[in-house]
Amino acid sequence: MKKICTCCQAEFEISSGGANQCSVKCFLFARMDKSGGPNSCWPWTGPKNKTGYGAYHPKRNKTINAHRAVFKEFVCDIPDSILVRHTCDNPSCVNPSHLLSGTNKDNTNDMISRGRHIDGRKKIIGENTSRAKLTEKQVLEIRSLKDTQMNIAKKYGMSRGAIRLILNRTNWSHI
Ligand SMILES: [Zn+2]
Ligand SMILES: [Zn+2]
Repeated sequence: MKKICTCCQAEFEISSGGANQCSVKCFLFARMDKSGGPNSCWPWTGPKNKTGYGAYHPKRNKTINAHRAVFKEFVCDIPDSILVRHTCDNPSCVNPSHLLSGTNKDNTNDMISRGRHIDGRKKIIGENTSRAKLTEKQVLEIRSLKDTQMNIAKKYGMSRGAIRLILNRTNWSHI
């Protein structure tokens, strides 16, 4: 049967009645909410997955992120090893001009610079941890003291166990 594509208005031939667009490109384009104008985010109007990304089903049992499908159709047909990331930090956005290709590392750097990701290592060691009551200077001081663990603990208002962990380098092992 013949149909008119709701996106590009071209006539196309289809065996079963399902699709209203002539191509993947038209299918994706018809599901971008472009009402905000060319520079704003274009939310995906199709289904979304749990993490807020648009869900696109190229085949019956296959789902890929809509912004990835859009990037491949409208920008560059990248291989699977390359990620597509948002410059706008809006998971459902499929405006091709808000999408960039990159590696996993780029993506992590992005998240760190936007403060969405806490660097696990920094959180555990050193003065950056919220649990740290001591400065690095004090830790070095504690290690240089020739006093009993009990006395050092009293001096710094800490438990003897905590002092022991510093002296045997279980804690603050990085300095
Ligand atoms: Zn079309
Ligand atoms: Zn956007």
